[in-house]
Amino acid sequence: MIKYSLVCDYDHNFDGWFSSSEVYEEQSIVGVVQCPVCGSTDVTKALMMPGVPAKQNKRIDQPQQVLSSAKEGPAAHMVAMMRELRKQVHENAEYVGPRFAEEARLVNDDEYEQRSIYGEASIEEVRQLNDEGIETFPLPTLPEEQN
Ligand SMILES: [Zn+2]
Repeated sequence: MIKYSLVCDYDHNFDGWFSSSEVYEEQSIVGVVQCPVCGSTDVTKALMMPGVPAKQNKRIDQPQQVLSSAKEGPAAHMVAMMRELRKQVHENAEYVGPRFAEEARLVNDDEYEQRSIYGEASIEEVRQLNDEGIETFPLPTLPEEQN
């Protein structure tokens, strides 16, 4: 049995019990479904009230879904890419620490062997290197490194 909240064309609300949704459809078409108050056979299914709070809940939940997609969606992909980038840097470049600026000048000097380095540099040092035509790339900071 299925219970439907029904409403007639005079706005009388009542419940109707049907053995199936198909039976309800058939009976409503034939005009068997009658309003117990006024006897009108112009009866339609009332909007199910429980559906409204459910929709509102979904709307309230949505910011959380955005948050969770930020953790597991494209943002997680970006973090994974940054992690991979750092891994590649660690494996293929030499760590020079705070000597980065002077080492960078050597790396970009054709007289020295070609190699890659990474390390720490101040904004001023990076600016100077840039003025000298030496390209540097800021490495992304990963969440686990922000301690
Ligand atoms: Zn009625």
